[in-house]
Amino acid sequence: MLAEIEQLLVVQDHDTNIKALQNELQTLPFEQNRLEKAIQDRTAALDRDRQRAKEIEVERKKLELDASTRRDQIAKYKTQQFQTRKNDEFQALGNEIARLEKEISQIEDHEIDLMEQAENTGREIQRAESDFKVEQAQLQQQLVALKQKGELLTTTLEETKAARQKAGAAVADQELLGRYERIFQSKGGSAVVPIEHEVCMGCHMKNTTTNVHRAKLAREVVYCEHCGRMLY
Ligand SMILES: [Zn+2]
Repeated sequence: MLAEIEQLLVVQDHDTNIKALQNELQTLPFEQNRLEKAIQDRTAALDRDRQRAKEIEVERKKLELDASTRRDQIAKYKTQQFQTRKNDEFQALGNEIARLEKEISQIEDHEIDLMEQAENTGREIQRAESDFKVEQAQLQQQLVALKQKGELLTTTLEETKAARQKAGAAVADQELLGRYERIFQSKGGSAVVPIEHEVCMGCHMKNTTTNVHRAKLAREVVYCEHCGRMLY
């Protein structure tokens, strides 16, 4: 194999690795956002449950107060009933008392509903809190692992870049290196490719026998007649 091609293959190997590392590093922020959002969503859901429990409690207290106000009123009406000597007034007070008692009964039914809701919400919160602890711990672990992965990839990338730099400097013909770099850039990788059965392994097109022969002689850098990649 031509010495230049051999050197360029080393450079290309590093460049390919650099590209893969950079692509992988680019996906990390998305993954991090996904994990952080999952943590936030679960926290928000639990906060909503807790808020609902508070609201139920406030509503229940209000109902208790409503019932208690009516009981006080009933007590007043009963006192008035004892004091009055008028039959129609006694009757009117009796109607009011009956109306208030009916309202109290409705309020109490509503209170029972709310107490059931409070129990259910309480159970949901308990379950959510215990799930939450496990999930948050897992998500935090994943975040830590992601951070470590990022650090490892960054270190590897730096090392690979340094090795690439060295391999690039070792190429005697820097103009040739520049040509290689332009092909690697424009083709998105694979600038130096093998030729197999007269076919370029970059574009999968057949080259002329003469070109294939020149490539096999390995006395000069030969380019694919179709895609312009360097052949070996
Ligand atoms: Zn080709």
